[in-house]
Amino acid sequence: MRERDIENYLVKRVKALGGEVRKVNWVNRRGAPDRLVMLPDKAFWVEVKAPGVEAEPHQLREHTRMREMAQVVYLVDSYEIVERICE
Ligand SMILES: [Mg+2]
Repeated sequence: MRERDIENYLVKRVKALGGEVRKVNWVNRRGAPDRLVMLPDKAFWVEVKAPGVEAEPHQLREHTRMREMAQVVYLVDSYEIVERICE
């Protein structure tokens, strides 16, 4: 299973729940999570990886900075985690 399969599944699940998903890239900065997920009752950022693949150190540093500023950032490497975070 590739990262793209899990990302496509995430997009499909969020749309089925009536939410919005955006692909994300910072300007002049690396490490942005892959997606911003917006649901009627919550919003969060998602870094998608192929199963068992870790985030890069620079991505983890950015996630930490974001979490320190009240952002919710999930690392997602399976369909099961997609289901859990979208509940
Ligand atoms: Mg990714």
